Amino acid sequence: MGVFSELGEEFEEVVYFHDAPSQLRGIVAIHSTALGPALGGTRFYPFETEEDALRDVLRLARGMTLKAAAAGLDLGGGKAVIIGDPKRIKSEELLRAYGRFLDSLGGRYITAEDVGTSGHDMDTIRRETRFVTGVSPTLGGSGDPSPVTAWGVFQGLIACAEEAWKDPSLAGRRVAVQGVGKVGYHLCKHLVEAGASVVVSDVDVDAVARTVRDFAVDTAEPDKIHAEECDVFAPCAMGGVIRDDTIPSLKCRVVAGAANNQLAAPEHGEELQKLGILYAPDFIINAGGVINVADELRGYDRDRAMRQVETVYRNLRAIFDMANREVVSTARAADRFALERIERVGRLRRILVPGR
Ligand code: NAD
Repeated sequence: MGVFSELGEEFEEVVYFHDAPSQLRGIVAIHSTALGPALGGTRFYPFETEEDALRDVLRLARGMTLKAAAAGLDLGGGKAVIIGDPKRIKSEELLRAYGRFLDSLGGRYITAEDVGTSGHDMDTIRRETRFVTGVSPTLGGSGDPSPVTAWGVFQGLIACAEEAWKDPSLAGRRVAVQGVGKVGYHLCKHLVEAGASVVVSDVDVDAVARTVRDFAVDTAEPDKIHAEECDVFAPCAMGGVIRDDTIPSLKCRVVAGAANNQLAAPEHGEELQKLGILYAPDFIINAGGVINVADELRGYDRDRAMRQVETVYRNLRAIFDMANREVVSTARAADRFALERIERVGRLRRILVPGR
């Protein structure tokens, strides 16, 4: 129980599942269903120990509660991990066994893709359960969420520009994009169309080459991009990029990008604030993906999802106002923003509606 007390959080339900013949072994964590079914992706990863897997799934499930609540969705937060190397053990049998376990949860948890799982895997899981999102458009699903996430990040950058420079235009602003994968690539497209000057980096040379070819952006070394002289640093690769050894070299006015868990520790939000760097809390600005899969639960309509993603702009404005008013970091304001909605709206469930 060490991990539970360490995280100091209340989780509604944590379920271990196991199917020896298919080598399926994993954990579903349901952090909160105060606002609705717990939604969150399935991470398929070769965790060294079960305790590492548990720690990750709990942390990620909590993050999903905040993300869905802040995005205004009727969804709670959950996450799942499958322990093992997907390249070695992923099979139809394993994914379908997993789908059957999910089905047994009766819809309290709804899954989606994450690190180590793909849209194709969601289609396989769909054969056993309807509690899965991000399936192919041919099956009535929403497909790849990345373009929608990128549109949300772009809307968020407009809110940041208004806050930092009192001008929503990104024309002429220098933006350093770390990681030009599925989201970063689409973000570059919007930035270039808006007249921004863009510099990118990626450890994958093909990804860089494709972005340079399509949008004529500048390039930087992967280990130096955070130290670029720029207006906006946009982390769109991995988490933990804002940490003790990178903060002193930042030369930007704004940190705003798609990556999850950008701050290595919560106090890094305060450090950015002290340095006068405006931070767009990651789970607010990258909510496009969850908004997109949530739309799928109603019968997917991409135009409607794209319109709803504009909430990202409004939420960031509200969070910046809250941070200014209450003299707290934007990271702290974002947590409060999400928790307040859970309090206000989650409370309504105590009103009995017969038959619901
Ligand atoms: P992706 O795997 O397609 O792209 C990530 C890119 O980052 C890859 O091209 C990879 O080579 C590159 N990269 C890895 N390490 C790097 C480094 N040290 N420096 C520079 N580049 C590096 O992933 P994605 O779907 O574009 O997601 C990007 C981030 O946004 C992730 O943190 C993800 O969790 C988050 N996110 C994605 C979505 C979505 O809809 N795809 C939604 C919400 C959050």
